[in-house]
Amino acid sequence: MSSVTSPTMNCPICRTREVAFVVKDAPAFYKDPKEPVLRLDCPKCSNYWLNAVRHADGQVAVDPPTLATIEPLTDTERAYFSECVQRMIDHNCWLIIGPDNADHFLGDWRWAQTMAQRWGFEGARLMISGGGFDAANRLFFVVHQDGTRHVLRLVSRHAEPARTRTMMDWLERLRQAEVPTLTPVAGLDGAMIQTASMDGTSRQGVVFEWIAGPVWEDLPKEAVTVDLARNFGAAVGRAHQVSATMETPNWYHCRRYDGRCFTQYMERLKAKPHRDYSAAQIAEFEGLERRLLVAMETLGEGRDDFGIVPADLAPHNTQVVGTVPYLVDMMSFGWGYFLADLQKAMRLTFDREEHETAFLAGYQQVRPLPRGFDQFRELFAEAKRVAVHWF
Ligand SMILES: [Zn+2]
Repeated sequence: MSSVTSPTMNCPICRTREVAFVVKDAPAFYKDPKEPVLRLDCPKCSNYWLNAVRHADGQVAVDPPTLATIEPLTDTERAYFSECVQRMIDHNCWLIIGPDNADHFLGDWRWAQTMAQRWGFEGARLMISGGGFDAANRLFFVVHQDGTRHVLRLVSRHAEPARTRTMMDWLERLRQAEVPTLTPVAGLDGAMIQTASMDGTSRQGVVFEWIAGPVWEDLPKEAVTVDLARNFGAAVGRAHQVSATMETPNWYHCRRYDGRCFTQYMERLKAKPHRDYSAAQIAEFEGLERRLLVAMETLGEGRDDFGIVPADLAPHNTQVVGTVPYLVDMMSFGWGYFLADLQKAMRLTFDREEHETAFLAGYQQVRPLPRGFDQFRELFAEAKRVAVHWF
């Protein structure tokens, strides 16, 4: 790569030759917009952004630290990194390739390979997962030489070990109650949670059976049937019923989506320096906060209404086999209102009234709707619209 006028360059990631590119101004959140970034149209990695610099003579080149990170990669590492870039673009994740994300992708991949040995998965190929992109708890597809698959979840290095243990114990209770969900696979030593060590640090990992069905969000419209919606409602109902009736061990450790959590989220939102909220907007936030806290107070934290919930029920976290919806991502699990969990699942999953009706009927085959469902449902929906990631 040499000059602004040059129409092509070699893709530094996959080394495809003569890839078309354009020079663009950097987005302001990334760096000074007077600085350049490159947009490459690589037939393998797809249309991606790359960090760049402008020399004193006006010529634009790939950012040297980025190049220094990518240059030494082996062919296998390049193939993996190229796949990561493709997947991110396919899922509309916006990123500019620089040394940090290159290190992060490849670092997690090396961790996953070390972790996979705990299950005896030698010779398997590790793919970045098709969706989700939980960068802290990276998910990998393990593709064995005979074509069979597993799923490997690399738990965040900052996660408390008790939290993973809690998730696995709760998951087992869900499975016993016939909630369609993940089936854990034991490592070589028989333990479901494995710890791998590398460079003086350690991380936890878990492996699950492969579920051979598409994620809900990839289903063609006609595949989202009334039966599927009803089964989804029943699965959520069963999950809530487990939490409402189980004896919770005192070592359980997970987050709480309660009034305090909401207030903290809103404090952070209001304090964001780059958002110049008007006095009217701040007053609106505070009004919502007051109303939600009153609702939570009214609902209380009784066992029928508040318990451990998946907390991230969504089309991209549900895999479908026939008309059975498998709840497959529990990494956000924690104590919360069943009402909020229901509201989130419905908001993200249904755009047809008959599906929503079937979903609620499925839930009520298992247990009554949580208290205050009609009264507070819209309020929880409003809270979710304003405080997008609070729950
Ligand atoms: Zn490429």
